[in-house]
Amino acid sequence: MRLSELKTGEKGVIVKVLGHGGFRKRIVEMGFVKGKIVEVILNAPLRDPIKYRLLGYEISLRRQEAERIEVVSEQEARSMQNPYHGALTEDVTIDESRLVELAKGKRRTLNVALVGNPNCGKTSLFNIASGAHEHVGNYSGVTVDAKEGFFDFQGYHFRIVDLPGTYSLSAYTPEELYVRKHIIEETPDVIINVMDASNLERNFYLTTQLIDMNVRMVIALNMYDELEASGNQLDYIQLSRLIGVPMVPTISRHGEGIDNLFHIVISLYERGDFLSQKGEIRKEILDDLRNWHKKYVPDHDYGNDHEESLGRSRAVMRHIHINHGPELERSIDEVKKAISFNEEIRHKYSTRFLSIKLLENDREIEAFVGTLPNGRDILEVRQREAERLRKVLNEDSEQAITDAKYGFITGALKETFTDNHLEKEQTTRVIDHIVTHRIWGYPIFFLFLYLMFEGTFVLGEYPMMGIEWLVEQLGNLVQRSMADGPLKDLVIDGIIGGVGGVIVFLPNILLLYFFISLLEDSGYMARAAFIMDKIMHRMGLHGKSFIPLIMGFGCNVPAVMATRTIEDRKSRLITMLVNPLMSCSARLPIYLVLIGAFFPHQASLVLLGIYTAGILLAVGMARLFSKWLIKGDDTPFVMELPPYRLPTWKSIFRHTWEKGVQYLKKMGGIIMIASILIWFLGYYPRPEAYSSVAQQQEQSYIGQIGKAMEPALKPLGFDWKLGIGLLSGVGAKELVVSTLGVLYTHEESVDPEDVNLANRLPITPLVAIAYMLFVLIYFPCMATLAAIKQESGSWKWAVFAALYTTALAWLVAFTVYQVGSWLS
Ligand code: GDP
Ligand code: MG
Repeated sequence: MRLSELKTGEKGVIVKVLGHGGFRKRIVEMGFVKGKIVEVILNAPLRDPIKYRLLGYEISLRRQEAERIEVVSEQEARSMQNPYHGALTEDVTIDESRLVELAKGKRRTLNVALVGNPNCGKTSLFNIASGAHEHVGNYSGVTVDAKEGFFDFQGYHFRIVDLPGTYSLSAYTPEELYVRKHIIEETPDVIINVMDASNLERNFYLTTQLIDMNVRMVIALNMYDELEASGNQLDYIQLSRLIGVPMVPTISRHGEGIDNLFHIVISLYERGDFLSQKGEIRKEILDDLRNWHKKYVPDHDYGNDHEESLGRSRAVMRHIHINHGPELERSIDEVKKAISFNEEIRHKYSTRFLSIKLLENDREIEAFVGTLPNGRDILEVRQREAERLRKVLNEDSEQAITDAKYGFITGALKETFTDNHLEKEQTTRVIDHIVTHRIWGYPIFFLFLYLMFEGTFVLGEYPMMGIEWLVEQLGNLVQRSMADGPLKDLVIDGIIGGVGGVIVFLPNILLLYFFISLLEDSGYMARAAFIMDKIMHRMGLHGKSFIPLIMGFGCNVPAVMATRTIEDRKSRLITMLVNPLMSCSARLPIYLVLIGAFFPHQASLVLLGIYTAGILLAVGMARLFSKWLIKGDDTPFVMELPPYRLPTWKSIFRHTWEKGVQYLKKMGGIIMIASILIWFLGYYPRPEAYSSVAQQQEQSYIGQIGKAMEPALKPLGFDWKLGIGLLSGVGAKELVVSTLGVLYTHEESVDPEDVNLANRLPITPLVAIAYMLFVLIYFPCMATLAAIKQESGSWKWAVFAALYTTALAWLVAFTVYQVGSWLS
């Protein structure tokens, strides 16, 4: 009986919740746990929602949701107790403990469905398990419709369904539609995904789609004999940890592993929904499991180490999202957002699954979505995203999703599967062999990084000179054509001096983005993440943290957002917190100025050194955080390895251009305003008489602020102007350069007309180093803090990031300056 059928005032006990994982999780979290008593407060026939009392609370559920909860009612209990005199026992009350017993008994009927590729051994498994004699055949398409069988095992009554074989769950063939429909409409309690272990890559594709559907499942790693005979090796325990689905080796032709398989099916069914975030299980549920075990599986092989297997499978059962890469994930999220308006379908479908299917142009799902109130909108969003994807990825979304899934599969197998017959050396394999080599991989990677910085610096020089020249001409033009007065000073010193000082770095920033996009689009970045995985683990991070960290070199804001792909909370938080230590491109101008002025002959090396310092500090902090600050064990995840690709000019150009536009916007907005503000603070008050511009500036507002800060900065070797520069960088790091540009316009000893700030800075190389380090480390900009707040869900971590980086910056700059001064 379903919960929706109980009438007002009636009581029932929950047997089980049907449907996909997202729905079950929500319902269980509301308290609809097996064996709990629910009472109907109000269930009027045409009224939605229905009101219930559960554990002393009032809860409403939509009718359709209540339809997916199986219960035992008092009335049902009566007829069960006394099947012959149902009518006569109307007024006999059934006590609650009896009801609970009945519900538990009913729960012991389990619906299982076999899903898998054709010819992977489903029917053989079905026959072995149910004792049936269905025809098995060594060709595909033998099973055209579902066959049903029943059997009892370890105290449970199983209904098992042998579904037609499919390679995928799209809407192309009747079999695919049939299987999908069965999963969604019939809601089997557990799905057994039968896999041909000797053909993993192909079989895995279907599995990734089942994962998208968020079904409760176990993988039967069938034809395990063939895998063993082939001499290839699979670390299936690790693989199941990676994908969050338990895997059991079976040889269904001989019946090996079948008991184990169904044993795991039971324990997944009884436990899966009741694991807490940390993988802990409620005591009452564990007790039930223990009792079942004692009673039904006493002298089983795994009887003794059952406790241990309980612990192990804890890590195995979780729902992962197959990561389709940032562009696709963005589109999936967009479409999902539009679908999510329809609360009333969420009990039935995983919205993520619908979204992915829409992007795959799935006809059937399209038709279904078309019937929703905002169906048009959803399809429009889908259309828009599909077009966007075509532009960015240069292929249609359906193909892109398939590719991403295979990337996931390749990544998962790369970590767990050893192919001892490398018959065909494909290009990807050959390249992978070299760039992910356990020794050569690293120098190759650092070589790429070095080339990237060298390229940024050397190639950037030429357009930079051009822009510098233009800015200078503009300054001269204004100088000649405007009448003297505050307005002229504002235009020349404030706007041209400030904005001009930053805009010259546009080429460098574009180049940096160009190189990052190149590495990403070609597929190399994923390999770099792969080889860094081990090192990352030592930092308490995961290989996946690596990409956000590298992205941090461009801008910390998208980098912090990119941490979303890290499933593990601990790694995600740490990655976010250390991300500001990855020197973003906004900090590049200040390095370029100082390096250009003080280390012109070792430019790339010093630049690489600064970046490396950031990386090393990030490593150190990550280790500290993972040891002392953020608790949790690290769960393993698949690292996708997409095939290598020649990056398309279009997509690289687009990425680079987007960044350029962003940069220019920042220039016209916050940088311009801040430049004017700083100019103003430095220009006023203007006393009647002052002997030099420098003296006036010192007495200005900004001079006063700087002077107040000076005691804290003196031990670092910074004067008040440098201090003001740092202060302005709190808004955005580019402002450091433009502020210094404005402040050092009137230095006496230098030529004030020189646009090149480098020639106007009267500091020593040592101070320059200390200053660069300080800029590298201190206070992430406002936008980054906002991103950290958003992604971590609390201001706490944003504030923490601001404080620890500033303290660290001070310490590092202090040490460098003091030790340096002492040495020389
Ligand atoms: P279905 O299409 O998925 O239903 O697969 P079948 O059950 O019809 O099996 C296809 C073929 O694989 C048959 O010839 C089976 O005998 C064989 N087969 C099934 N399971 C195994 C196994 O575990 N190992 C081996 N070597 N062969 C198997
Ligand atoms: Mg079959």
